[in-house]
Amino acid sequence: MSVDPTGPLPQEILQQTFGHPDFRGQQSRIIDRILDDQHALVIMPTGMGKSLCFQIPAILLRRQSDDRRQLSLVISPLIALMKDQVDSLQTKGVDASFINSSLTRSERMKRYENVAEGHYDLLYVTPERFRKSEFVEIIGKRKVGLLAVDEAHCISEWGHDFRPDYTRLREFRELLNNPTTIALTATATPDVQRDIVHQLGIDADAIELFHEGIDRPNLNLHVQQVWGFEEKLEFIEKARERWPGSGIVYFTLIKTLEYFSDRLNEREVPHLIYHGDLDRTRRKRLQDRFMNQANHLVLATNAFGMGVDKEDIRMVIHADIPGSMESYYQEIGRAGRDGQPSECTLLYDDADLMTQMEFLNWSNPNAEFYERVHDFLTHELEQVNAFGWEWLREKIHARDKHDHRLETVISMLDRHGVIDSTAPDQIQDVQPLPDALRDQQRLQEKLKRDQEKLYALVQYVKHEDDRKAFIHEYFGLPYHSD
Ligand code: ADP
Ligand code: MG
Repeated sequence: MSVDPTGPLPQEILQQTFGHPDFRGQQSRIIDRILDDQHALVIMPTGMGKSLCFQIPAILLRRQSDDRRQLSLVISPLIALMKDQVDSLQTKGVDASFINSSLTRSERMKRYENVAEGHYDLLYVTPERFRKSEFVEIIGKRKVGLLAVDEAHCISEWGHDFRPDYTRLREFRELLNNPTTIALTATATPDVQRDIVHQLGIDADAIELFHEGIDRPNLNLHVQQVWGFEEKLEFIEKARERWPGSGIVYFTLIKTLEYFSDRLNEREVPHLIYHGDLDRTRRKRLQDRFMNQANHLVLATNAFGMGVDKEDIRMVIHADIPGSMESYYQEIGRAGRDGQPSECTLLYDDADLMTQMEFLNWSNPNAEFYERVHDFLTHELEQVNAFGWEWLREKIHARDKHDHRLETVISMLDRHGVIDSTAPDQIQDVQPLPDALRDQQRLQEKLKRDQEKLYALVQYVKHEDDRKAFIHEYFGLPYHSD
């Protein structure tokens, strides 16, 4: 991707465009590596500044003398994050854009046209965009100098947030003539790191790992054994007094969150709530309030947090045991971004393990269940479209209100491109069920891996020694306590 030697230096872009005096951690080394046309895998805690590692090379790239303007393509899993990043780049005068399903058809067409005509330095898309032949055709015409894969752990089935379309990245790279590639994530165990490199189709010795470590010295980690909801409630109430300021309490299930919210209301403990069943506008409003005002306590499911970069979160409490160390670490990582001491407490009740196990079973329906839902969608799509999911839920006898197997299946069918929407009245046609969702052995292995991840968290709870040492070992990192 050689860069114009008379053009500005990364350091100058950092100061002039982004307004930061100095690079953080290994940013500068990573940027140099990319500018030298070599691949990088970056593991850096959330909030530290992964984006700059591809944004600065992308800005420098366009200044090449080559008559064809080069494009940096950013693969990102979340539509909401994309818009925030692009807005912020645009206010800095960077020619960035995104293409995703939130755009109207005419807006999308306009942007396709712009790409075809050689506009933009950075373009953000989800991996699912490559399902659209229009996009593939247009992007194939551009010279893509850099491919940035954000949230790269989504590539790996071993990771905690697998996205099937991320496994097509090797194919996308080929389509783009194997551009210099940077993959970035906040957490990846050694297994996941290897899998990311493998899935990208890059030789292990052609990619350099930049690992910032996961040390967060200002976070104090505790585990508190409790019995029953009352003790949890009491803990949360007292914690609120001990550690005022902004705080988050995470729950696994919405119904438990709502119960705690009622109980805290009775006790006149002010708080906000945030979970996936609230509509988008309401969620946005709550998030804005939390971000812009001081001293809010928010009760949330793991739907809350992506894009939350509030600096002064003083405490994060887990009211239930989370599903994996990856999610736990990511969630507590939202505390204390300002470097001030912050408290992270995991409330552990043996009984919660059952809830979490059940949750895992629902998140991992078996092949037979996939087939049953798929059959219904294939043969009775008209009825599903007319009567909605509740009707389908009754048909397939998942009467337990908390059984979310159907939701899991729908979202997996969407992720695998079997259906093109998760709204029942908008599904137009149903593709065949892919092998990955028919293969009982494979589904069973996935469940087992999820159970092992949960088990690692139980071991963490029972681990009486230095908790940070345990976490480092889990992520395959050396640890020096001092
Ligand atoms: P990540 O993707 O690692 O979670 P981001 O790239 O979103 O983090 O950056 C988080 C915040 O850190 C942003 O507000 C960004 O402006 C800031 N930041 C990044 N690099 C630097 C730096 N070198 N100096 C100061 N602030 C930085
Ligand atoms: Mg990021």
